[in-house]
Amino acid sequence: MNPKITRFLADRQPATPCLVLDVDQVEHRYRAITDVLPLTRVYYAVKANPAAPILNRLVSLGSSFDAASWEEIRLCLDAGASPDHISFGNTVKKASAIEAAYAAGVRMFVFDSGEELEKIARHAPGSKVYCRLIVANEGAEWPLSRKFGTSVSHARDLMLRARDMGLDPYGLSFHVGSQQTSTEAYEAAIAQVAMLFTDLSAAGLDLRMVNMGGGFPIRYREDVPEIDQFADTIHRALRQHFGNNLPETIVEPGRFIVAEAGVVSTEVVLVSKRGNDKGPRWVYLDIGRFGGLAETEGESIRYALRTGHDGDETGPVAIAGPTCDGADIMYEKAPYALPLSLRAGDRIEVLGTGAYVTTYCSTRFNGFAPLEEHYL
Ligand SMILES: *Cc1c(COP(=O)(O)O)cnc(C)c1O
Repeated sequence: MNPKITRFLADRQPATPCLVLDVDQVEHRYRAITDVLPLTRVYYAVKANPAAPILNRLVSLGSSFDAASWEEIRLCLDAGASPDHISFGNTVKKASAIEAAYAAGVRMFVFDSGEELEKIARHAPGSKVYCRLIVANEGAEWPLSRKFGTSVSHARDLMLRARDMGLDPYGLSFHVGSQQTSTEAYEAAIAQVAMLFTDLSAAGLDLRMVNMGGGFPIRYREDVPEIDQFADTIHRALRQHFGNNLPETIVEPGRFIVAEAGVVSTEVVLVSKRGNDKGPRWVYLDIGRFGGLAETEGESIRYALRTGHDGDETGPVAIAGPTCDGADIMYEKAPYALPLSLRAGDRIEVLGTGAYVTTYCSTRFNGFAPLEEHYL
């Protein structure tokens, strides 16, 4: 565990549940991805964690930002980001949000439908637009597929329409799904994008940009490919499919930049046998699916846990949150074992929780307050 966070937790004993996040580690991860993808612009996916200390640090490092809403754009501007370093990257935007973004100087918008394109043409005339393609999400532990993106042939029509509407048909995007553990997913998507570049070029429209989205994984309980392996695959695919005519490229990492920097500290509320000697013990924490650990839905993201009893003999457990909702179970099928000496009142640290936790927290379900946040 990160020594700075360990020291903070030991010295301060902050009330639980809380997130403690080391902003230096965010910087380290930003540098790691820009080092291996030196020609690619990084647009941090703000939704992963929009906390001001993170945005401020990334602005100071020269990052750009992928924002999902006008509210997120506002946060980036407040952190000092220039509007031409912000992409409005949600394919579903209110007209009022497009208008506000345009008024603030944002000139880059995504779409995946004719209806959205019309909205952008009306409320953000002349802006750069890029179309999101639907690509395979196999290998992703948190897939995003069906809800976003369109087919290659539809995208082709839409890009030509974008030109006719007076917009700047800038490029194409995809997202291979979050916590993507297969490097090949990027390769297949780049091949698809390149074909459409060629096809549109033949139709007299030269696109300039490929937005490869996010998805880069972090280590939770299992090893994942390192970021340089993703970069190698991406470089190889770009060279193979675009030759010397390389487009501008963008990535939008969220999880990769912030997840490992954060630890959620929780208190064990109850350890019980549930009147069944054969079943696992149930460990109830003061945070669960509704307190921010929403990505445990379907047991998709399996966080690593640390306890003060690590090293003691362990036994199998089911792990649940503190609310009165039956869905508030984090792990019942995934094999988790915790020390037999674990008791109510002990603390458990949930690692890799810097992304998709604070903002996934319900506000007052069962009366529980949202988790506190500490940025070091
Ligand atoms: C969520 C999202 C991202 C970030 O994905 P990660 O898997 O966290 O890297 C990037 N781009 C878009 C469009 C997204 O919706």
